[in-house]
Amino acid sequence: MRTSIYDPGADYAIGIDVGGTKINAGIVGSNGETLLSVSLPTKAGSSTVGDRIAVAVQRLLDWVREQGEIERKGKEMSIRGIGIGTAGQVDWRTGAIRYASDLLPGYTGTPLKSDMEKRFGLPVVVDNDVNVLSLAEKHAGIGKGAKQMICLALGTGVGGVLVNDGKIVHGVWGGAGEIGHLSVDYRGLPCICGGRGCLEAYASGTSIAKRMNERLAEAGADSLGGPLDTRATVDRWQAGDPLATAVMDEAIEALGSAISGLLHVFNPELVVIGGGLADVGEPLLSRIREETRKRTMPSFYDGVRIVLPSHGNYGGMIGAAMQLWEYR
Ligand SMILES: [Zn+2]
Repeated sequence: MRTSIYDPGADYAIGIDVGGTKINAGIVGSNGETLLSVSLPTKAGSSTVGDRIAVAVQRLLDWVREQGEIERKGKEMSIRGIGIGTAGQVDWRTGAIRYASDLLPGYTGTPLKSDMEKRFGLPVVVDNDVNVLSLAEKHAGIGKGAKQMICLALGTGVGGVLVNDGKIVHGVWGGAGEIGHLSVDYRGLPCICGGRGCLEAYASGTSIAKRMNERLAEAGADSLGGPLDTRATVDRWQAGDPLATAVMDEAIEALGSAISGLLHVFNPELVVIGGGLADVGEPLLSRIREETRKRTMPSFYDGVRIVLPSHGNYGGMIGAAMQLWEYR
């Protein structure tokens, strides 16, 4: 029996993606390849979110140890450490959860990095779930070699990452890149942040569904079978439904406006658009490119690639693991 599976030069790391409903965890190699992954609900009984993360880590470590037993005559399997990308606001300096909504009860204030280092005796790096997406692209995806990159995640909310000179821009404590709260209309819709006309109020999956149902109600139309969700709204848009088209046009124009502003401010070479809404793919992307181009000086738009991410639903988990190559 060996005593440790830790090796700072190992070919693998543990990546953990902590979302509001589930935790995806995997053993990930430097090219983003995944040897083993597990998925479990974020909430279970009276367990804390930290306890649930520990359950996921333990399952992976048990597997790694088993491999070590099987291969003990050859090269034993080892790992670099644990990378976590999590929902909520992360204090990047300390790896603690600065704030999490009621979606993750009791999570605010959790000193995640120090807790996990104590539990497992391995190096732990923590960042928010959107920031790590950019690392999946940078190390093992379409962003390889890109120095100036913007990533957007269109999901329940709108998340963002700014990559400058190859590094994530964290700001003072780690909050930088909240592109969802960039205002695209200073007299626009009120937002939960206190602002008005935030991108998120138009272009998140939640907002798209909400605005679709408002339009249906205004039109006196019956949506049959209750309110529409984002998927149903997008399906109607693709089928040419005028109300859904109006809602999606607003979302896409808001995205074009925000991205144009970012192109003028950051002059990036790559814009990656991910999140659940981006599953629509090219029909959405081509409209976003069109609305961005209209609003951007040609010298800032020419040569910019606006693309989909490389790793779909596992980008968060892969990117979380990539922190062990990025920072250590
Ligand atoms: Zn806002």
